[in-house]
Amino acid sequence: MVFENPVIKQLIEKTRILWALGHALSLMGWDTETNMPPEGAMERGIAAGELSVLQQKILLSPEIVNLVDKADKIEDLNDYERGVVRVLKRHIRIAKALPPKLVYELARTSEEARVVWRQAREKDDFNLFRPYLEKIVNLNREAAEYLGYVEHPYDALLDLHEEGLLTRDVDQMFSVLEPGIRKVLDKVLSEELFPKEHELEKIRYDRDSMEKVNIEILKIFGFPLGRRARLDVSAHPFTTGIGIRDVRITTRYEGIDFKRTMYSVIHEFGHALYNLQIDERLIATPLAGGASLGIHESQSRFWENIIGRSMSFTEAIYPILTKYLDFIKKYSPEDIYYYFNTVRPGYIRVDADEVTYNFHILLRFKLEKLLIAGEVKVEELPELWNNELERLLGLRSRTYREGVLQDIHWSMGQIGYFPTYSIGNVVSAQIRHYIMKDIPDFYEKIRNNDYKEIKEYLREKIHRWGSTFAPKDLLKRSFGEEMNPKYFIDYLLEKYIYKKI
Ligand code: MG
Repeated sequence: MVFENPVIKQLIEKTRILWALGHALSLMGWDTETNMPPEGAMERGIAAGELSVLQQKILLSPEIVNLVDKADKIEDLNDYERGVVRVLKRHIRIAKALPPKLVYELARTSEEARVVWRQAREKDDFNLFRPYLEKIVNLNREAAEYLGYVEHPYDALLDLHEEGLLTRDVDQMFSVLEPGIRKVLDKVLSEELFPKEHELEKIRYDRDSMEKVNIEILKIFGFPLGRRARLDVSAHPFTTGIGIRDVRITTRYEGIDFKRTMYSVIHEFGHALYNLQIDERLIATPLAGGASLGIHESQSRFWENIIGRSMSFTEAIYPILTKYLDFIKKYSPEDIYYYFNTVRPGYIRVDADEVTYNFHILLRFKLEKLLIAGEVKVEELPELWNNELERLLGLRSRTYREGVLQDIHWSMGQIGYFPTYSIGNVVSAQIRHYIMKDIPDFYEKIRNNDYKEIKEYLREKIHRWGSTFAPKDLLKRSFGEEMNPKYFIDYLLEKYIYKKI
């Protein structure tokens, strides 16, 4: 049995309603993005707001808070039981620290800010969005004070998105990533080791045929479509783990540059597999989710980049591509590999390749840190953005749209989220290092469409635990060390400079 202690059992029973509310909210969130008629948004907003408030109220009810306190004093708990206490304590600590007025204010401001951000982006007018961003920064600075921190106010915000993550950890990570990426990027560009562009990026595809490609790839991976999983279409691809047996992913079809929809499917599959492989004994408990955003992203990046952008994978899916996409026939697997792996410094984060992607995160991390420390003002952002972009990638954005206004995160009130993307990249390469020790013919297996052992490895090391362990502890436990950015640079060097894996 996973849960034996009577206090923990009672706690799981009493908090099941929180899980149920989360389940309902996930389903509503999924529906909002996929099926809801647009004018349903207002009522959906009210309903979701009410349910979130109810969640907080139940979480902070004396009955649950007292039970968590009681459980926290028990010494002989197993890993899962300790996990339950850790997860609930953390939610309670955060909910107690933030005054309801602040939470409400942040939710209301971001609701408006998101609408204004869209307009500002359309009109390419930073000043339109500026007052909202100022308010969001100020509310986040206030939140950091309420939450508390030891070294840097940004620590408090990082922890909201990635449990236990400190500014110091992110500084350390980028101190390795920046020079390493610089070295690889300079060499790739100066020696033209990988192309900057590829003509396939301009070729239009037929939507139905492309959907078949996506589904064939999901079949190779063993995605339980129609049983425990769905693939739908939405404006922005995402994954929703409604339950461990109900996981839904989406993609979009832009009609051009087929790798975009294909990699969004593979990326979301990585997220979905995490949820699908959580131990079923954790169903309907506080542990039924992933360890953190960063660990979740490591799974999506592992499938998208480490597996999906490899030569072995390109060769393995070549027959599928030629079967459904006529225009592919005149290209060799190697041509397609280069199309999958173009490297070019660009303005837009979400379009960035494996090599340059983390520079986009470094830029945002630096700016967020300065904003939260009160060292720069929002009005200075566009200029700082460009100075940093120029330093990192040799570019200055010509519009706000392709610069400071490109991401939705700030408009949603989220500051401290971006670093979790780089953590995902770093951890995905770390997993690659370790999986190749256990499965030396890793790439051979990919070439043969044989994912059984790879999925089993990920289940054992990461997935099955759900949120039993905090992200740092999970990594230490599964790989014997904390997050280590060295492997990401090793991977880039191996792929882009030496071997073209
Ligand atoms: Mg993701």
